[in-house]
Amino acid sequence: MNIIQEFETIAAISTPIGTGGVGVIRISGDKSFDIAKKVLSNKNLTPGKICHGWVIDGDVKIDEVVILPFKNPNSYTGEDVIEIQCHGGINVVHNILDVVLKNGARIAERGEFTKRAFLNKKLDLSQAEAVDDLIHAKTSNFAIKSAKNLSGVLASKIKEIRNEIFETASRIVAGIDFPEDVAEPEYSYLIDKFEKSINEIDNILKCAKSSDILRQGLKVAIVGRPNVGKSSLFNALLNLDRAIVTDIAGTTRDVIKETLDLGVAITLIDTAGIREDENIDKVEEIGIEYSKQSAKEADLILFLYDAKTGLLPEDKEIYEIIKDKTNLIIANKIDLTENFKEEFTNTIKLSTYTKEGLENLKQEIQKVIYKFAPDDTEYITNKRQQHCLERCKQSLYRALTAAKAEELQDMIYIDLKSSLLALDEITGEVITDDILNNIFDHFCIGK
Ligand code: GDP
Repeated sequence: MNIIQEFETIAAISTPIGTGGVGVIRISGDKSFDIAKKVLSNKNLTPGKICHGWVIDGDVKIDEVVILPFKNPNSYTGEDVIEIQCHGGINVVHNILDVVLKNGARIAERGEFTKRAFLNKKLDLSQAEAVDDLIHAKTSNFAIKSAKNLSGVLASKIKEIRNEIFETASRIVAGIDFPEDVAEPEYSYLIDKFEKSINEIDNILKCAKSSDILRQGLKVAIVGRPNVGKSSLFNALLNLDRAIVTDIAGTTRDVIKETLDLGVAITLIDTAGIREDENIDKVEEIGIEYSKQSAKEADLILFLYDAKTGLLPEDKEIYEIIKDKTNLIIANKIDLTENFKEEFTNTIKLSTYTKEGLENLKQEIQKVIYKFAPDDTEYITNKRQQHCLERCKQSLYRALTAAKAEELQDMIYIDLKSSLLALDEITGEVITDDILNNIFDHFCIGK
């Protein structure tokens, strides 16, 4: 995106393309009000006042709409913005966008509204990234955590750490520049300060892994030989009839995936039964290969066997494939046996048929999830932010080592400056065009 384009007036459909009650077309830039007056029957647009009218294309009435006019800087982008709320049909929104584009706007690029909001200082970069997280949140839990960053939780923590480092750096500079008037800070003081900042950064970074998991979710594969009830369990966990259940071995020939919200987005994978058998046809063979692959890729494996038959040699073979992965062992069809003998400690007894043990299984899955992503994950960060924090920490470590060795404070100051730069990249105070474009290119059009 070049600089000239950024001053052009842009427009896009901001609601998902589909059929719905309402569709929103957003226009942002200097010409927003002029364009709106050309395409609306109602020319009387007062900023901050909702009004009503028709979108028109010459003599043709396109739709009856509600209009929200915003005058800069009091808008999402910080520019003049017109939001048109129309009826939510695919063709209606496209017709309105077309007439807006015909009258002087250009189509917005991905994330361009939010990028302008950032450039106009309506949001810092960590908040802009939170917008993207919020839109794409796979669970309500992650949406709430992203909203916290949108409200500035991460940004203000970073600012707090930044201010501390900045203050120390200023004292060092004062001591260097005015040695007669200002004493250089004591090394013990510097050591305390640097250790405190490193601790604070560690506090954020310790949530990094769970942040990633909360954002991306976990893969949970149901694995076992044919007919043990994998598809039945898949359906029971999802509370639907997604996978085909039959008593013919090898029904599930490919891998079926669905997402389940357990605080963390769980991609539940129903694999084809793993079975070494000469009679297996080609399609099922491919399915079994997929199963082994899914088991390899999964974060958690639900290993299923038949409680009535007990653990057969084939089950043991499959268990050998998955035993080194995080797993839960489940004896299914418990309703068919009265004297079940546990072959593993911690076997979860289940009947997908009567639902006995299903709640217990969900709780056990939840416990594993909490191990991956503890419930008290305080700071949500993405890879870019984590990388900046790591860089900041490394610079602070160098400063700490230098302070312990009582090196010249000029040298310590250089490391503090690098640590500040790394923090400024998180909030976007210092950022290159490439990084900026890379961030906003991941957004959707209209946001
Ligand atoms: P998969 O091949 O491992 O996916 O097994 P399915 O889910 O297709 O189930 C195979 C057969 O076992 C079907 O006839 C199911 O109705 C039956 N089944 C599955 N779970 C249970 C259970 O808990 N109790 C009983 N009695 N039958 C079950």
